Amino acid sequence: MELRKIANLIKRSRKVAIVGHVNPDGDCIGSCTALLQAIRKSGRVCNVYLDASVPKYIEYLMYDDYVTDANINYDLCIALDCADRSRIADVKGIFENASKTASIDHHITNTGFADVNYIDANASATGEIIYELLTKYFKVKLDKGIATSIYSAISSDTGNFKFANTKARTHIIASKLMEYDIDVAEINRRIFDTHSMAQLTLMGEFASNLESYYDGKVVVGYLTWKMVDKYGLTFEDADYLVSIPRSVEGAEVSVFMKVKSPEEIKVSLRSNGDADVSKVASAFGGGGHVRASGATFNCPYDEALDKVLNEIAKELEICITE
Ligand code: 5GP
Ligand code: MN
Repeated sequence: MELRKIANLIKRSRKVAIVGHVNPDGDCIGSCTALLQAIRKSGRVCNVYLDASVPKYIEYLMYDDYVTDANINYDLCIALDCADRSRIADVKGIFENASKTASIDHHITNTGFADVNYIDANASATGEIIYELLTKYFKVKLDKGIATSIYSAISSDTGNFKFANTKARTHIIASKLMEYDIDVAEINRRIFDTHSMAQLTLMGEFASNLESYYDGKVVVGYLTWKMVDKYGLTFEDADYLVSIPRSVEGAEVSVFMKVKSPEEIKVSLRSNGDADVSKVASAFGGGGHVRASGATFNCPYDEALDKVLNEIAKELEICITE
């Protein structure tokens, strides 16, 4: 089985690199830091490579010596939480140049781009697979640090254990992690319930500009550079807004449009029901999960919105009468 193969690859390596995805999130950072701690604990050299700064809500998992930009030739590079090759934040070609590559992921759209791939689309988070790896195949004694990272990864990707990807197994793993005396209240407060005043003010402006389509089944919210800059924020500081259009009563699908420049729009899709938004995102070269996916458009806002609404309509099987 592929997860055992990846464990064996780690065992045979002296130097291991871990790469996450572009615009890293809680699952990405939690999984990377958990695996890094475990591999270092086993006496091997291990570093994480990230291309962007770590979002504030998950900064507590980071230590200065975790991330490097050193040009080292690694025996093995493991990509975590990356659905395809283009999602890898391949700083300095570390993935490209490693002797062997592996991928551990839970995206249904994963393309199997590494030498060895373990993809479990039933796992709530990549962190859940890291737990399997460290307790079954690359056995390392868990500790508070590793448990905090894995718990953070899982809590982050399950929206604090409330999304449909949360399974009985997810709770079982969380309960095992709690045996390491981790501070779940503080972890969840940092990830979900801590915002600057500026972020909350931006939320008000964002919420007042929501638009609904198809009898309220689709709710769209947008954010421009001007809006975030006005409050001294960055787009990464605004990721938490994705849940606002989704929470509107009657919404089956929500669309969060980050207008990064006049012709670069990052779209985040969320589904509350049966609509498979990974299909919608895949139609535009993106991907993700059935209920959470994303894609980037290189065209003006109106055109991107039109395209995405049409694709959602197909998925919702709505007959559009003009
Ligand atoms: P978000 O909307 O929060 O950026 O991402 C939601 C989910 O979709 C995440 O699991 C993320 O990895 C995936 N995703 C977002 N953007 C892209 C993209 O451009 N390509 C692919 N393949 N997946 C994406
Ligand atoms: Mn994930």
